[in-house]
Amino acid sequence: MTAKPAAAAARATVYGYPRQGAGRELKKAIEGYWRGRVDADALRTTAAELRRATWRQLAEAGVHEVPTGDFSYYDHVLDTTVMVGAVPERHRAAVAADPLEGYFAMARGTQDVAPLEMTKWFDTNYHYLVPELGPDTVFTADASEQLGQLAEALALGLTPRPVLVGPVTYLLLAKPAPGVAPDFDPLTLLDRLLPVYAEVLAALREAGADWAQLDEPALVQDRTPAELAAAGRAYRTLGGLTRRPKLLVASYFGRLGEALPVLAGTPVDGLALDLTEAPADTLDALAAVGGLPGRRLVAGVVNGRNVWVNDLARSLSTLATLLGLADRVDVAASCSLLHVPLDVAVERDIDPQIRRWLAFAHQKTAEVVTLARGLTHGTDAIAAELAANRADLASRAASSLTHDPAVRARAAAVTPADARRSLPYEERAAAQRARLRLPLLPTTTIGSFPQTDELRAARGALRAGRIDAAAYEERVRAEIGEVVSFQERAGLDVLVHGEAERNDMVQYFAEQLTGFLATRHGWVQSYGTRYVRPPILVGDVARPEPMTVRWTRYARSLTDRPVKGMLTGPVTMLAWSFVRDDQPRARTARQVALALRDEVADLEADGTPVIQVDEPALRETLPLRAEDRPAYLAWATEAFRLTTGGAGPATQIHTHMCYAEFGDIVQAIDDLDADVISLEAARSHMRVARELAAHGYPREAGPGVYDIHSPRVPSAAEAAALLRTGLAAIPAERLWVNPDCGLKTRGWPETRASLENLVAAARTVRAELSAS
Ligand code: GLN
Ligand code: ZN
Repeated sequence: MTAKPAAAAARATVYGYPRQGAGRELKKAIEGYWRGRVDADALRTTAAELRRATWRQLAEAGVHEVPTGDFSYYDHVLDTTVMVGAVPERHRAAVAADPLEGYFAMARGTQDVAPLEMTKWFDTNYHYLVPELGPDTVFTADASEQLGQLAEALALGLTPRPVLVGPVTYLLLAKPAPGVAPDFDPLTLLDRLLPVYAEVLAALREAGADWAQLDEPALVQDRTPAELAAAGRAYRTLGGLTRRPKLLVASYFGRLGEALPVLAGTPVDGLALDLTEAPADTLDALAAVGGLPGRRLVAGVVNGRNVWVNDLARSLSTLATLLGLADRVDVAASCSLLHVPLDVAVERDIDPQIRRWLAFAHQKTAEVVTLARGLTHGTDAIAAELAANRADLASRAASSLTHDPAVRARAAAVTPADARRSLPYEERAAAQRARLRLPLLPTTTIGSFPQTDELRAARGALRAGRIDAAAYEERVRAEIGEVVSFQERAGLDVLVHGEAERNDMVQYFAEQLTGFLATRHGWVQSYGTRYVRPPILVGDVARPEPMTVRWTRYARSLTDRPVKGMLTGPVTMLAWSFVRDDQPRARTARQVALALRDEVADLEADGTPVIQVDEPALRETLPLRAEDRPAYLAWATEAFRLTTGGAGPATQIHTHMCYAEFGDIVQAIDDLDADVISLEAARSHMRVARELAAHGYPREAGPGVYDIHSPRVPSAAEAAALLRTGLAAIPAERLWVNPDCGLKTRGWPETRASLENLVAAARTVRAELSAS
């Protein structure tokens, strides 16, 4: 027998990896399959090759256990739904007839059958498909996909660790199936679900899995005592099984808090903790439970959802404090690397001086491996890496890109008065009424009109150098002309220019502000085969010149009606970018706000009477824990108010929000002090109007009466009925009439018909009001 080492060697691992491949092979294969150009076998082959390539690359980089089961054709929560047999009734036949077709039908719907609902995965920009459960749900185990991936990795001679969505998180992410009472609590199904997990775990063990990872990110959110008790019960049950792999329960996207002692009190074999946020709190909590003696601790010290190089020395010192606390300490990224792009080395357009500050999935993997080596063999073993890292960090800290003295001085000089309009709403409203002379129930849109193929083609041609800037401008102007004349004909009251020039509401501004960086290949999965390339907010932000004024001016030159200028707000600019981590978000938000404030000033000086500052992401970046929310809302509202606070009283400030439940941020909406807010409301039958009314919201609001997420044309009668519902909550003098959101994803025919009906509805209800 050999002597046991004092402490087991630290090993490197990751929880998941980008899925689509360096050449976007998965996206192409899946979309090819949907169009009938790729058959199912070819799609499966492509997927298997991509998985193998990822595992090989991870293993070669020095990752000890490779994750399996994290790969997905669409979404890992949908895969879990398949694994536990919770396929909704309406999709059963299709899944039975052809599992792959049925799978995509659940994800995307068919002509006759609605897909599962899609929503945000915690506070990331990834979307998952919401499980639909009810008291009659019967779970049955289908481990085939997990077993298949496990076998593939074993065949390569690797050590795989299957990754599963944990049963508690799965149930907490579910909602009552259609037809089930809305107060049904899916967590009541836990005892029915656990035997299915037991069966899957037994099968994985049998097939050669030494460890399995159960992801429980829902436990980093505020949880009720009953939910925590359920988590305890789940892992006492699974931990008590005899035929199972060793169980690693993984938490990420924040600190476990009160769930840590609960999990530590169960017989699981290891815990994975996110140590990128409040590591001191987590260390205290670990010490308070007496550490994890005899167990495995996986320390997520490399941030898995930002794009910045790790501070290796700082991570090492965090890791060192963990050493006595568990039998074995392994090193990982804080969450799956699904949320970052694949490889920064291919970004040839990024200045190498800046590229060295960035780490995507490949680079983060290398950092994890380096840290594991340093933890095992001491800092001398990674002296070269530490020195290089120190130099990278120093170059970033000293760069003129990250430190623009003029921007800093301006941000430091901000006073509370800058974030306040000069007059209270009532006085502003009077000035705006006198200036705009709008009818009761004024009609408007949210900003964008259909992005036609011609527009996209023109932008492509400009990029490729086939047309010049002048020709492109001409194309955009022609589009603006059409959009304005349509709105006049349709009888809308406050017009827009239509945003024809914008590829994307964040990227368009990011390209014109200093401090933002674009990537060429930095794709990140948003949902299914939809990938986005978020800009990287790398340095201090300023606006060298006006960004939107000429388009709005051109639209105004074509009409006598008021035209609304259109900007993306500071909170949304941050939410849909990778934000710098070398200063608090609040400070970055303030810089972006001041840059946008300049644009508001220029639009106003040019004579624009109405300016909209969109904040669709305000709700979605609300922190997961309630205790973190006030601080977020404070800087978020300050940023919005700094953007708009300089506008004169007669300039009407609009804002817009969508994609969310607004109930818990009504106070924040009020605090923005916008004169008018438009909100998504059609599908929820104007619920937000009632929420605003219940709060005593004092200003003008346009709850949407046209659901723009579908090509369906709402009738005038339908829109009028929604308006009457809105009127029951909001008085006519403060009610606006508009769609739920922008129209850029819609086609012209349904846009025309729907807006004509919307105007007709406003006229009908106006007539009713003046008659009564
Ligand atoms: N003004 C934008 C548009 O109309 C708003 C988009 C959004 O809210 N997501 O497209
Ligand atoms: Zn919207």
